[in-house]
Amino acid sequence: MSIQQTEIVIIGAGPAGASAAALLRQKGHQVVIVERQHFPRFSIGESLLPQSMVFLEEAGLLDTVREHVEEFAFQYKNGASFLRGQQRSFYDFREKFSDGPGTTWQVRRANFDHLLARQAEAYGADIRYGHEVLAVDVDTAQPILTVRDEAGESYQIQGKFLLDASGFGRVLPKLLDLESPSDFPIRRAIFTHIEDGINDQPDFDREKILITVHEKDHRAWYWLIPFADGRSSFGIVAEQDFFDHYGYTGDDSAEALEALFKKILQDEPALSQVLSQAKFDTPVRTLVGYSANVKHLAADNYALLGNAGEFLDPVFSSGVTIALKSSSLAVPLVERVLQGETVNWMQDYEQPLREGIQVFRAYVESWYNGEFQDVVFSPKQQVQIREMISSLLAGYAWDVNNPIHKNAKRRLSVIAEYCREASANMLALEQ
Ligand code: FAD
Repeated sequence: MSIQQTEIVIIGAGPAGASAAALLRQKGHQVVIVERQHFPRFSIGESLLPQSMVFLEEAGLLDTVREHVEEFAFQYKNGASFLRGQQRSFYDFREKFSDGPGTTWQVRRANFDHLLARQAEAYGADIRYGHEVLAVDVDTAQPILTVRDEAGESYQIQGKFLLDASGFGRVLPKLLDLESPSDFPIRRAIFTHIEDGINDQPDFDREKILITVHEKDHRAWYWLIPFADGRSSFGIVAEQDFFDHYGYTGDDSAEALEALFKKILQDEPALSQVLSQAKFDTPVRTLVGYSANVKHLAADNYALLGNAGEFLDPVFSSGVTIALKSSSLAVPLVERVLQGETVNWMQDYEQPLREGIQVFRAYVESWYNGEFQDVVFSPKQQVQIREMISSLLAGYAWDVNNPIHKNAKRRLSVIAEYCREASANMLALEQ
């Protein structure tokens, strides 16, 4: 079998792969993306963070998104709302500590990802839809991939560098035995798109994602991500025992999942009220055990981008932002490799990328152990602290100037303690 040659091979045309390709093409490099699906294709993860706007702009991808906002009913987004029983709270991302955009969009990922991929093609990337990577050889200086095309024919392609942006496909982690267990418990998400029927509800703000904590089990939470056309992405996340308690039988048919989802929702009076006119009209799906990690994110001739590396948890909508950040960090290093330089991938890619991921991780852990929920729902929050938290919720997890960036976990605990005491004092004063 003859081996095709190119400069960079990328596996996957999601946000990580498309943005890496766009950046590389604008620097004049030859890029082939092998993508096993045809776009537009469904992907979960519709709520972007303002930090992602910086990376989209840098990759020359922001204009195309902006131009299609109306066509695809992308929803302007400026923050996050939270609901727990009768408690309500929100963060406005425009009021934040870090510099940079404070707004973004909630997007149907099928359209959004397709726009990015089409723009990467417009820059000259060769995207091979319907082609699946079957095997990889990274023992040669220049990696060789075995790919099966749509006709079922196999071919090989060799690049000077390989970027794995295969998301939950996790091609290199699986083929090279790089998987390392996530330290999060296994969680399941059940989700769909709905006709939300939300009209003129004074407490509901379409310009914010709504995160609702399950009233009886604070480990479980719902997302409601409105689009601009009266529809929303709607999902619930919890550990398996929560779903078992509601009678989950292992039947993952759309009908069984919809019945389960509606049964759980009945226990949530405030959210049920918001969605009292909603219509479930799209098959309900489920994903389980999506949190993942790897032993290392790069070697001399390959690097893992986005979800192919580490995926934490959906609660703070960090996935696309991390995917775009990974491309932004990796591409200048790939260029140095192409120029014959030796790159210290650990120092210049893995450490800086993981630094921000660790901050998100601290927030996710603190959310599930209840500390961050107590911060969010505290009626007593200093303005400066709110702005620092707002920055992180807006995705600015790499801003080392943010005082709560360093030792994020410990600092969150301290803030939570302060908020709990302040709330208790307020209650005592009211009585
Ligand atoms: P992907 O977007 O998954 O793209 C990978 C591509 O690789 C796919 O198109 C796939 O077809 C292709 N591929 C896979 N295997 C192969 C192969 N063998 N050969 C060729 N091609 C292959 N993120 C947010 O930012 N906001 C959210 O609100 C949000 N909500 C989420 C909710 C849930 C329940 C989950 C599980 C995740 C959520 N995420 C969210 C995360 C987000 O979906 C991902 O982080 C994001 O899609 C990562 O982009 P990526 O480019 O790394 O991978």
